[in-house]
Amino acid sequence: MTNPVSQSIFQPLEKKMAKKYTGPAIGIDLGTTYSCVAVWQSQNNRAEIIHNEQGNRTTPSFVAFTDDQRLIGDAAKNQAASNPANTIFDAKRLIGRKYSDSVIQNDIKLWPFKVFAGTDDKPQILVKYKGEEKRFCAEEISSMVLTKMREIAEKYLASPVKNAVVTVPAYFNDSQRKATKDAGLIAGLDVMRIINEPTAAALAYGLQKRADCVDERNIFIFDLGGGTFDVSLLTIKNNVFDVKATAGDTHLGGEDFDNRMVNHFVMEFKTKHQKDLSRNSRALRRLRTACERAKRTLSFDTEATIEVDAIYEGIDFHSSITRAKFEQLNVDLFKKCLETVESCLSDAKIDKSSVDDVVLVGGSSRIPKVQQLLQEFFKSKDLFASINPDEAVAYGAAVQAALLSEGIGKSPSLVLRDVTPLSLGILIKGDVMDAVIPRNTSIPVKNTNDYFTVEDDQSTIAFKVYEGERLKATENNLLGMFKFAVPPAPRGHIPVKVTFSIDLDGILNVSAKEDTGGNKQEITIKNEEGRLSTDDVQRMIKEAEFFMAEDIKHMNKVKAMNALDDYLYNMRKVMKDDSVTSMLTPIDKMKINSAMIKGKSLIEGKQNQDAFLCHFC
Ligand code: AMP
Repeated sequence: MTNPVSQSIFQPLEKKMAKKYTGPAIGIDLGTTYSCVAVWQSQNNRAEIIHNEQGNRTTPSFVAFTDDQRLIGDAAKNQAASNPANTIFDAKRLIGRKYSDSVIQNDIKLWPFKVFAGTDDKPQILVKYKGEEKRFCAEEISSMVLTKMREIAEKYLASPVKNAVVTVPAYFNDSQRKATKDAGLIAGLDVMRIINEPTAAALAYGLQKRADCVDERNIFIFDLGGGTFDVSLLTIKNNVFDVKATAGDTHLGGEDFDNRMVNHFVMEFKTKHQKDLSRNSRALRRLRTACERAKRTLSFDTEATIEVDAIYEGIDFHSSITRAKFEQLNVDLFKKCLETVESCLSDAKIDKSSVDDVVLVGGSSRIPKVQQLLQEFFKSKDLFASINPDEAVAYGAAVQAALLSEGIGKSPSLVLRDVTPLSLGILIKGDVMDAVIPRNTSIPVKNTNDYFTVEDDQSTIAFKVYEGERLKATENNLLGMFKFAVPPAPRGHIPVKVTFSIDLDGILNVSAKEDTGGNKQEITIKNEEGRLSTDDVQRMIKEAEFFMAEDIKHMNKVKAMNALDDYLYNMRKVMKDDSVTSMLTPIDKMKINSAMIKGKSLIEGKQNQDAFLCHFC
């Protein structure tokens, strides 16, 4: 007999499995600090990392607002020190989280921009744009970065791009995945699939290095980026990529190491000058930039200097840090990484000696101490057969995008099976979490458990859906709840079947059905907690279009001003040429000179440029 509940819930999933997308499709690694975009090139049978207009293969995940424009990427990061309160980064740390989350509260102390609690405890970022206050949620900031990545790809491909695979840390929870998908929607993208970053890296590694391996190989992916840390254990055999287990920390990465160094130098400054520079967001931003640079230096040198002129109240700050000191400041965080490695191997039920390759991904995996600890842990020979740690995730995302596309020529031949990173279950009597889908189950998946009434003549059962690994349900993350009406009966007599399904994006749907004596009831809940409503998404799409129009207007203005500048430059040259000027009447010369003065004052902003441009529109 067909099950109407299952049909209605799972139809979209089945369709999705079969759905093939047409048109160009890109892979986007939406990073905490940097993002990267790639596209599959069927003629070369490989993915291509696309460089931005500055020639860089990664683009800072920064968005800045000024008095006259919005900037994204390098342009935003480059002006961060002079406009710290309106330069937003780290949206990935905020996305899908509550304002009251202790992690957010700690970050807020270090961010130079303002974050406050909006409705439903959703964090809101406050900026000044064109002289007015504007509020954004993390999804909107991420959507701006995604838009930038799409534009980079469109320029390279010389065609519009709509389809994209976007990556997330494997350890992102349900709300964070959904919020990332919303960011894609606001950016006007058709998000073909959300895939896990270490899995994407494994695809890149497998295709570049091990695609043809006939014997099964155990691959361990160690992905330590700017803000997140993920590990995964996969097996690869005959082009089948099977994720066995995944673990991680959505809040551990290069920025935490930077923070430790920033705090160290704030203390040093306090001791030297009895002044607290952390009160000044500009000083903090400049110190952070210097610390990040020093951290990179310490990956190849044993000492790095910090030099920030007039950092606070006119005082120059010059200091240095050794690699040993940097390691001492962060040793607990580095060790935490190894605990996660152990837990992943134990979940996969694979001994470290059976790991064939360890693949390093993410910029922070370049830190020598991290590599040393890993080397000591995995004592085998074939370690660190590395691919480019900054680009592997985008490469893998582009491979997945090609797998989901049709009409793009030859696509890579492989099969990918991923897992769900966190257990999902129901609160049962005694505040116990009953896992319906245990962590590291292959996805897509659909599991059903039976639940019974616990009292005589109970009229409703309340189901609370949680995500996490604690046995005590309320220690886990509450995703949502629903009440279910049941007919009166002695306790334990009314079974309710609760079905959890996870789709290929790792996103959960829950349904329940009571089926006694032909009496059927059905209910479906989706986790909407903290998620944007359809109206919100629509409004944000409109706003994104508005921003796009504003950006285009600004670009046109810049282009027009540059053209005018070139024109005046040439005109000045011509006016110095006697053979030309001798043919002009004094009135013509006067007219030309006066027009040139007007043009110069326009370029220098002494006259209203917008009014002038309107003239030509
Ligand atoms: P990702 O998110 O993978 O782009 O990684 C970005 C992070 O890697 C940032 O925190 C960078 O500071 C860090 N990073 C990049 N290169 C290095 C390096 N050579 N040594 C240490 N950290 C690095």
